[in-house]
Amino acid sequence: KEIVKVSNLWKIYQTETEKVEALKGISFSLEKGEFSVLMGASGSGKSTLLHILGTLDSPTKGEIIIDGVNPFSLPEKEIASFRNKKIGFIFQFHYLINELTVLENVMVPLLIAGVEKEKAEEKAKTLLKSVNLEHRLSHRPFEISGGEKQRVAVARALVNDPEIVLADEPTGNLDSETAKSVISLMRELNREFQITFFIATHNPELEKFADKTYLIKDGVLI
Ligand code: ADP
Ligand code: ADP
Repeated sequence: KEIVKVSNLWKIYQTETEKVEALKGISFSLEKGEFSVLMGASGSGKSTLLHILGTLDSPTKGEIIIDGVNPFSLPEKEIASFRNKKIGFIFQFHYLINELTVLENVMVPLLIAGVEKEKAEEKAKTLLKSVNLEHRLSHRPFEISGGEKQRVAVARALVNDPEIVLADEPTGNLDSETAKSVISLMRELNREFQITFFIATHNPELEKFADKTYLIKDGVLI
């Protein structure tokens, strides 16, 4: 089943001095449960593509369909709830909230989606167990290691049962051993829950885990 379809996607940034063609007619699709990697040099358009897939930025031209819906055709106020329900994000830096415990951080997307507190807590605990952090529930982000923080970020990305998880350099801030353990964890969760992963990275180690590798160069998929 096709979960993501991208057709002739263009992104042109207009700066004060010039036009930057960041994406130049990108087309591809992702199957449900696919674990794919997007590789490309710095400045090739990876983050731009991820931002548009994540509905954080709109395309200049072209279309994306996620789970049968073109999110940019939705009324503005529905885009955010579409994003919160369908898409999980993992970034290079974890963006956990230091004032909240590990458990509370993972509950946030559920509470935003309107899930009641007790259910949210139960679901967040289940996810934290899947990333082997059941012994860190009441720690705060600054009390756990780098690899643990990224595993919390993985749990948070998955807690709303998204259709797709978008990750931008998820191992960029980790040493290579920790990076490997985070990658293999993402791969396990992908297999267990049939969640589609699309991961932008420079890390060739990630390619070994991927079903497919997409290569982007100067805004074109090659
Ligand atoms: P990558 O993630 O592969 O490093 P980006 O998607 O960040 O690439 O950038 C692609 C191109 O678009 C680069 O030339 C970059 O300088 C340019 N770019 C990215 N964001 C903006 C922006 N907000 N305004 C103008 N140019 C941008
Ligand atoms: P890493 O080698 O992965 O960076 P650390 O040396 O930072 O790991 O942490 C090792 C263990 O100690 C981790 O399991 C972490 O949860 C725990 N830990 C680290 N810092 C603190 C802290 N300030 N308070 C409580 N536990 C901590």
